[in-house]
Amino acid sequence: MQTHKTPMPEQPPQLRVRNFDEVALGYTEEMALQEAARCLNCKTKPCVAACPVNVHIPEFIQAVVDRDYEKAYHIITETNSMPAICGRVCPQETQCEAKCVLAAKHEPVAIGRLERFVADWYMKNIKDAVIAPSPNGKKVATIGAGPSGLSCAYDLAIKGYDVTIFEALHEAGGVLAYGIPEFRLPTWVINYEIGRLLELGVDIKCNVVIGRALDMDDLFSRGFDAVYIASGAGLPNFMNIEGENLKGVYSANEYLTRVNLMKSYQKDAGTPIRQSRAVAVVGGGNVAMDAVRCAKRLGAETVYLIYRRSEEEMPARLEEAHHAKEEGVIFRTLTNPIRILGDETGQVSAIECVEMSLGEADASGRRSAHPKEGTEFLLPVDTVIMAIGTSPNPLVTRAIKDLETNRHGCIVTDAGMQTSIRNIYAGGDAVKGAATVIYAMGTGKIAAESIHRSLSEPPTD
Ligand SMILES: Cc1cc2nc3c(=O)[nH]c(=O)nc-3n(C[C@H](O)[C@H](O)[C@H](O)COP(=O)(O)OP(=O)(O)OC[C@H]3O[C@@H](n4cnc5c(N)ncnc54)[C@H](O)[C@@H]3O)c2cc1C
Repeated sequence: MQTHKTPMPEQPPQLRVRNFDEVALGYTEEMALQEAARCLNCKTKPCVAACPVNVHIPEFIQAVVDRDYEKAYHIITETNSMPAICGRVCPQETQCEAKCVLAAKHEPVAIGRLERFVADWYMKNIKDAVIAPSPNGKKVATIGAGPSGLSCAYDLAIKGYDVTIFEALHEAGGVLAYGIPEFRLPTWVINYEIGRLLELGVDIKCNVVIGRALDMDDLFSRGFDAVYIASGAGLPNFMNIEGENLKGVYSANEYLTRVNLMKSYQKDAGTPIRQSRAVAVVGGGNVAMDAVRCAKRLGAETVYLIYRRSEEEMPARLEEAHHAKEEGVIFRTLTNPIRILGDETGQVSAIECVEMSLGEADASGRRSAHPKEGTEFLLPVDTVIMAIGTSPNPLVTRAIKDLETNRHGCIVTDAGMQTSIRNIYAGGDAVKGAATVIYAMGTGKIAAESIHRSLSEPPTD
């Protein structure tokens, strides 16, 4: 019995740090078979319950063992319409893999790597199109083409609904397209999985900002029977420290959008980005990891990751932190910025920080961080990127009278993702605040089911 996960080949750090190509190269068939053979196919299937979209994991892995990869793909897509994306970006180590029975004694089965293998095999070998069902005469609008809106649209479209997604940006995908870098999630993968949705007849109208170009009344008067709000949490938070308005300070969202969506690293890109020499990224989550790794690839000689707690408390995936270190990022943990300094032209010239120590656990369950008096120091940098979280953009919620939101600006829903207003549903980051792709997809599926149930009921009056 192999006790460890079959390793996945990767581009070596010294090579990948100079390109935006995918870092993880995926399993070969031999590797997939070797890993699939580790699954115990246990009866209790705790991995399935730990997956927010309940992928039938042991069944698809058994199909891999049987070398029936087409069947494996169909088993996964019964509940997950975007397996190539999830196989690459899901935090499996805290979800399905965390509950794998093998994990009690050994490394869990590499479920994510196997999911990716199956999805990649299908994309390469099967040239089919999704068959659109006959229309049921009902229309649903989705606000936002991120994973939540896409997943809700898919589940409704396969039931015959006429679905239109309104997206503010010029491309669909939400964070998948504008946030997660090409070297973790290539654009062709996103385009393939969104393409399946278009084959089902879903209409994606880009460049439409709901709350500005159209409001809810407009949508209902255009004949939509229900609306699903999946507008994400794209409003960046700042620290409100001195110097945040200097030239060379970015929010991680802006920085990553310039890199990922606008491809500013390409020679002919219309949207420029600063050629930095020394960069400080503030934060310890996946967004911070993506920003430091992009900064390295854009040619910065020195890239610091500044995080106020210790590495143990870092919310980023272990794999991302490991990759960032391999690529030469300098981790300054137990460190917090107190101000950003500029030169006479208003450009960033340094960031002043203070050392931190850890106290008791706070409300978040993590140990609280406190500044150590007299430990202030300067790091000379020309770029600062703030990656300390995001909140839902109030543009949509403010435009809807009587829509209940909480003190963080997140939309309040019941367990079926129904908001305080009839026929308006919400999910993903707009409801939870910054979370995960699979959570966003899971709530999209729940909402689709609730919408279907509500619109299938006979009218009561
Ligand atoms: C840099 C980064 C890296 C991440 N890495 C991971 C990862 O590795 N794994 C993981 O699981 N999660 C990751 N996440 C989190 C994950 O991407 C999000 O939780 C997820 O995308 C949320 O999906 P969503 O559909 O709710 O919102 P989003 O993906 O934000 O999509 C919302 C969409 O709505 C559109 N929109 C907003 N307002 C309007 C409006 N008024 N009108 C019309 N359209 C509107 C937006 O343009 C956007 O396209 C990452 C997040 C970031 C920022």
